[in-house]
Amino acid sequence: MLTIGAHMSIAKGIAKAAENVIEMQANTMQIFSRNPRGSSYKDYSRAEVDKFQTLRKDHEFGALLAHAPYTMNLASPRPETHEFACTVIQEDTARMDALGVENLVFHPGSHTGIGKEAGIRNIIAGLDQAITGDEKIYVLLETMTGKGTEIGDRFEELKAIREGAAHPERIGICLDTCHVFAAGYDIVHDLDGVLQEFDDILGLEHLKAIHLNDSMMPFGSHKDRHAVLGEGEIGMDALLAVVCHPVLSKLPFYLETPLDDKGHAEEIKRIRERMGKTR
Ligand code: FE
Ligand code: FE
Ligand code: ZN
Repeated sequence: MLTIGAHMSIAKGIAKAAENVIEMQANTMQIFSRNPRGSSYKDYSRAEVDKFQTLRKDHEFGALLAHAPYTMNLASPRPETHEFACTVIQEDTARMDALGVENLVFHPGSHTGIGKEAGIRNIIAGLDQAITGDEKIYVLLETMTGKGTEIGDRFEELKAIREGAAHPERIGICLDTCHVFAAGYDIVHDLDGVLQEFDDILGLEHLKAIHLNDSMMPFGSHKDRHAVLGEGEIGMDALLAVVCHPVLSKLPFYLETPLDDKGHAEEIKRIRERMGKTR
């Protein structure tokens, strides 16, 4: 069975988001772990959480994914910025684990001039404060485009973070198709080669989730602009090859394309039709 969903708004609560997933004929979702552009979060009521848990169980949702806010930068050399990011990753790992969310993804961060090695050291320090080793949740590093001073556009950098941490067994990878393509991994012409490289450097067993996006920007551009599936530089055939690939097809796929729930529902429907699947 295909596990696919989209990034969902939690503005009306987490139970409402699960209801919207069901309405979209999807079976998983990504949500923000807190306000993505600010720093706040609100605790869900017991009734809200119960309703959410019932919905995901009754409708056999696959692994859920929480996305940490974009505003945090664990790689930052600025003490207040780094400390804020440490607090967020620590709180949200615990909060999302308590909610039974399977994976929490974050952008490794930007080194803003201190260099990738120093940035990676800061990221590892933050992860080591957040991850106790007793969690059920996996904390995922997202593959990035490498815009500006961003860390994580090379598999080697993600490996350095993962293997440098005290609890690599709780750290996985989320592959974003738009980001790897813009970073210069040719998933259009050589998907097998890219997956082989991923396996050699990171190990495919650590790949836990796929962000399924087309890219407005060309191959190797190091620019991060998501496109609707089939309307970008990657194209529908290459994205379908990702979804159908034998080593990827059991993973959960999350759309982050510039569409609303209705648009995402249509993209999911189109993928299922092209795959000849009813669900
Ligand atoms: Fe992301
Ligand atoms: Fe993404
Ligand atoms: Zn992106």
